[in-house]
Amino acid sequence: MTYKKVYLKPSKEESLKRFHPWVFSGALQSVEGEPEEGEIVDVYTSKKEFIACGHFQIGSIAVRALSFQQREIDHEFWKHKLEVAYELRRSLGLAGNPENNTYRLVHGEGDNLPGLIIDVYDHTAVMQAHSVGMHVCRMEIANALSEVMGDVIQNIYYKSETTLPFKAELGQENGFIKGGSSDNIAMEYGLKFHVDWLKGQKTGFFVDQRENRYLLERFAKGRNVLNMFCYTGGFSFYAMRGGARLVHSVDSSAKAIDLTNMNVELNFPGDTRHKAYAEDAFKYLDRMGDQYDLIILDPPAFAKHRDALRNALRGYTKLNAKAFEKIKPGGILFTFSCSQVVDKINFRNAVFTAAAQSGRSVRILHQLTQPGDHPVNIYHPEGEYLKGLVLYVE
Ligand code: SAH
Repeated sequence: MTYKKVYLKPSKEESLKRFHPWVFSGALQSVEGEPEEGEIVDVYTSKKEFIACGHFQIGSIAVRALSFQQREIDHEFWKHKLEVAYELRRSLGLAGNPENNTYRLVHGEGDNLPGLIIDVYDHTAVMQAHSVGMHVCRMEIANALSEVMGDVIQNIYYKSETTLPFKAELGQENGFIKGGSSDNIAMEYGLKFHVDWLKGQKTGFFVDQRENRYLLERFAKGRNVLNMFCYTGGFSFYAMRGGARLVHSVDSSAKAIDLTNMNVELNFPGDTRHKAYAEDAFKYLDRMGDQYDLIILDPPAFAKHRDALRNALRGYTKLNAKAFEKIKPGGILFTFSCSQVVDKINFRNAVFTAAAQSGRSVRILHQLTQPGDHPVNIYHPEGEYLKGLVLYVE
């Protein structure tokens, strides 16, 4: 199999030499044979030396590298990549652990598969393509996944309706590629969750906060907890299991609040310590009293693009300032940012500004990030997106 070729402009191969997986469209000198979007192409330097092969796409990222060796992207390729990914999750103690059947199996560039996300919820894998190339390869990937994981995966749900470039006009629909179970209860550290992969956000659950939720459990004893931006209630159940006195979950989405209430019933039926409110975060923070001594702030990404950075930082400062203003002395604040364009330092500065405005004495207890099943490829530092601080507020 020979692939069509694209040629780089002189000296534009530097980032590929350092195994960064993206070729920007501006780096291309010429494209041979009019490859279609999603087709695999071989990338050559201006000196006509092979340097990588990957998925071609029209857009600012022209090629997403799959391999830095000249080879065929065939069944063996996908199988090998998924085997490596599965083995990593096994070494993390995630896959094959009866207390936990919820994990990310493939994290795009972090697993050397740019444009592909696969989350596992018990016997169902939810697969999401962020590039046309991964969309084109979805059946091959699904076949390789079935082979690698055997009985573990009985259903594969493909969920790319909103993640693929609109202009590519692929007409894709969400749906099962394999199986079709409606059994949607998954387990994380022994807690149960309904996962709404059909209509929920992302692949149905925010798998990336697992370790941070587990850490929160240890802080919860006897505390009054506010879980702001709760989505399906993740942090709330850990707080309840950790012995919180009361737990209030808040999200602007009524659907998220319904799911949170369902999940509470699933784990702590009839427990009156928990209440959930469908309300805007800023409104709630303004009207709430000063009863909380453990607050979680896990907002959606405030900046999706670099241009929005400054506003996003202001947003984080404003949000955190409200928590510092109201949290009880001796309170613990878990505060997060999942915006990729906001780096650790920027986020910390935004939180510091808020702390300074409140005049409270604030200390950092933990610095948090994404867990091992969301690995950061060392050659693609942009993959580090989740940042969190655990703060002690006097
Ligand atoms: N902490 C959650 C994930 C949070 S995702 C977990 O562990 O699973 C961010 C959530 O913020 C979404 O559920 C979204 O509905 C909610 N949200 C977005 N804007 C909001 C606002 N202005 N006020 C309250 N909630 C908001």
